Amino acid sequence: MGRAGPERHDGPDLARDALRRRLADLVTRRGPGALPVTGARYDLPETDDFTRPYWDAAAEGRLLLRRCAECGRAHHYPREFCPFCWAGEDRVAWEAASGRAVLYTWSVIHRNDLPPFGDRVPYTAAVVDLAEGPRMMTQVVDCAAADLAIGMPLTVAFRETAPGMTVPVFRPVAAGPPRED
Ligand SMILES: [Zn+2]
Repeated sequence: MGRAGPERHDGPDLARDALRRRLADLVTRRGPGALPVTGARYDLPETDDFTRPYWDAAAEGRLLLRRCAECGRAHHYPREFCPFCWAGEDRVAWEAASGRAVLYTWSVIHRNDLPPFGDRVPYTAAVVDLAEGPRMMTQVVDCAAADLAIGMPLTVAFRETAPGMTVPVFRPVAAGPPRED
């Protein structure tokens, strides 16, 4: 998943204010006094055999979750085992998410020196609560900062961030095309 590692802090026990500060912190963090390496980019996830189904599905416009057959709970970011009851990988499987979410918190980013984010500011880093339960680090697109509101309904969208690499983002329900289901 993302190299910034925000997924490690996605627990529902985190207070909103703390999470919001953490959000702004994560996306503006720079190396210890060093400028980014020329040509390097910091927006591409590192895929491996385990997460490949997730990224393949994203490229097809589908958001996947992991759900545990032992306790029934879904989680995100994807883990091989269940983070709630520790059931093993034989009890946890991929499933398609509905794509519905509500906005939990956000931070509008005006400066980020890590390429290629500097070309994208301002953008809205966000944490959303998926309809299935998990809390997810993402971005909100197609929404003016003044229109962002806690609890606003969102729907997943997909952005090709590089050739062959698509990442899930979210947009206000009203801004998207009508759902087909
Ligand atoms: Zn479980």
